[in-house]
Amino acid sequence: MVGSSGTQALAEIGVIGGSGFYSFLDDVTEVTIDTPYGEPSDSLFIGEVAGRKVAFLPRHGRKHHLPPHRINYRANLWALASVGARQVLGPCAVGGLRAEYGPGTLLVPDQLVDRTKGRDQSYFDGETRADGQTPNVVHVTFADPYCPVGRRTAVATAGAGGWQAVDGGTLVVVEGPRFSTRAESLWHAAQGWSVVGMTGHPEAVLARELGLCYTSLTLVTDLDAGADTGEGVSHEEVLEVFAANVGRMRDVLFDVVKALPEGDERNCLCVNPLGGQEPGIALP
Ligand SMILES: [Zn+2]
Repeated sequence: MVGSSGTQALAEIGVIGGSGFYSFLDDVTEVTIDTPYGEPSDSLFIGEVAGRKVAFLPRHGRKHHLPPHRINYRANLWALASVGARQVLGPCAVGGLRAEYGPGTLLVPDQLVDRTKGRDQSYFDGETRADGQTPNVVHVTFADPYCPVGRRTAVATAGAGGWQAVDGGTLVVVEGPRFSTRAESLWHAAQGWSVVGMTGHPEAVLARELGLCYTSLTLVTDLDAGADTGEGVSHEEVLEVFAANVGRMRDVLFDVVKALPEGDERNCLCVNPLGGQEPGIALP
């Protein structure tokens, strides 16, 4: 187990995304992390991008065997924090809820709606852990769920690279693993929400609880059932569009990594989420 206290940080930035993002890096070190919340989705794959140390974590496991509702989100964010990552990029595939957000759209949301159920979405759950530590009751501010600096950097960097991102919008996160019904989809769209996904939460709030900067980069792979007149979404369709865009997405991620503030330069709302509340547990 690697801890952050007393050890040199192995990484400063975390990317939650599959092997398509790191497999071609020259020098990748695989690091296994255990956490008080169990095992993360996979090992961390740590490499260097533009002189910045980045820990990649395949969200669904390297064999893509974990469905969205079985991912150990708490262990994933904890693992990234424990190797020293303080800024996290969370690329994910989503469905577009508006006709203008067709496949290939990059949208950097500024809001989210949580429609998941039964996922552990807090480290402050009142449960005594195996190490004997018990978290206090803590409430974090979540009005703005994403790092404003990370968002700004992502939108500007993508645009500079020729991929004009949609700046802002609401990501609604559903439990899955099934796709939405037409009625759900129409309802999501009628609320004015922008895109729908299955993994963006509780990733965002867990990052916030740990004081990490979290930026979601959503890639539209399909038009959701209500925004489309066709047969509805299929998994093949999603994989196809994602595969077609993975190189582009990787380029954007690497450019964003390059442009993110250095670790000790962070000065955003993410840095002190507890605002003086005592956590009761040692945070990584
Ligand atoms: Zn931040």
